[in-house]
Amino acid sequence: MSEETCQFCGRPAIKTSKGYSLCRYHILAYESLETGFKTWRERMGEMVWTNYLRRVSELPDTGEWVKDIARAELQKLES
Ligand SMILES: [Zn+2]
Repeated sequence: MSEETCQFCGRPAIKTSKGYSLCRYHILAYESLETGFKTWRERMGEMVWTNYLRRVSELPDTGEWVKDIARAELQKLES
């Protein structure tokens, strides 16, 4: 378990969250993805998580770390 690595970038994983092994950078990315979702919903009204993820993964100004998470989450939901 101590040898666990981040499934996105191979850096040492700090923790496992919702089935992902995440390094410190991808933990931050995950948190900003969730924060962004809340903000988006407050602004736009109802927003479905899947649609949000799709939007985010296509926006040019989304950080690569965040896109990694968004794409993985989409894959998980669509499989
Ligand atoms: Zn990582």
